[in-house]
Amino acid sequence: ENHFDVLIIGGGPIGLACGIAAQEKGLSHIILEKGTLVNSLYHYPVNMTFFSSSERLEIGDTPFVTTLPKPKRAEALEYYRRIDQKFELNTHLFEEVVSQHQEDGIFHVKTTKNTYTAKYVIVATGFYDIPMHLRVPGEDLPHVFHYYNDPHFFTNQRVIVVGASNSSIDAALETYRKGAKVSLVIRGTEISPRVKYWVRPDIENRIAEGSIDVYFESQIKEIHPQYTVIATKEGVKQIPADFILALTGYRPNFDFLRQLGIEIPQEAPMIPTHNVNTMETNVPGLYLAGVVCGGLNTHLWFIENSRIHARQIITDILQKEKAVRA
Ligand code: FAD
Repeated sequence: ENHFDVLIIGGGPIGLACGIAAQEKGLSHIILEKGTLVNSLYHYPVNMTFFSSSERLEIGDTPFVTTLPKPKRAEALEYYRRIDQKFELNTHLFEEVVSQHQEDGIFHVKTTKNTYTAKYVIVATGFYDIPMHLRVPGEDLPHVFHYYNDPHFFTNQRVIVVGASNSSIDAALETYRKGAKVSLVIRGTEISPRVKYWVRPDIENRIAEGSIDVYFESQIKEIHPQYTVIATKEGVKQIPADFILALTGYRPNFDFLRQLGIEIPQEAPMIPTHNVNTMETNVPGLYLAGVVCGGLNTHLWFIENSRIHARQIITDILQKEKAVRA
């Protein structure tokens, strides 16, 4: 039987929270995830520590027990895996949603493996699939990465890290500690104020002592196999580099959202149209949940403040169901 009350696109923390909330109210559900379980978290840097403390990442009223206040990636993977198992969620992995249309008020959802129908659809697709590009010549060269994983890879290499927020600063410090010669290229005048408070003194001290080079108010202009051209306050410079880590943020898949019928303004922050109380989009019965709701403003929502979307949505769905029956 391929029909469900609620079909959830995305098996991240918030997609799982939506599955739990639906189940709690006796609604049948399916979660469709294009990668592995909590795919975005799986692709975070292997040594990453969350900025949130573990209780703020909890869903399904289930404690996330860690010995240190801030969990590591591996602990979060294990937590959400146990959540999926505990609630016996109907999670289909490695099954990507490719399109959807409506007929007689029913959603028809096509995936890479199957077709489903559902009364309601929740889009919880996050923002980690599409990196923000530098839009400079050479960006497609094989030594330019938009995702960073493991510092060992960069041992004894000359690495340019682009960006001033958590991803960049973590990557700069970790690769420096594995023997990389690190240059940070930062567009603004400072390290982002959002950098984890316990990491900030570390990066500031490494810069002050000259262990990590930093170019503030600077931008990458061109990337070549042996060197990279940057525009700095002191003029244009050529820096020899073996790898470029362009960690300049990510954005939701707006094409996919539009294909689902969701209206998105042309201007930044391109917040997909939705009612902030019910999370329903301009398409009746189609909801948004989690960090995808922020559009380009990817710092607006995180797990702590968006896990609540699950209950908001299911409450609205129950009200609609009641209205139909009345
Ligand atoms: P995601 O976890 O991104 O889940 C979306 C899922 O949808 C993905 O698994 C994706 O594979 C899937 N998907 C996308 N398109 C399709 C499709 N067409 N079909 C099927 N599946 C699809 N937040 C915090 O609260 N605390 C932190 O400490 C924190 N640290 C972060 C560190 C990094 C490096 C990054 C990048 C983000 C961090 N965030 C943190 C933000 C964090 O990503 C989100 O809070 C969290 O992942 C949001 O959950 P989500 O379920 O909304 O989206």
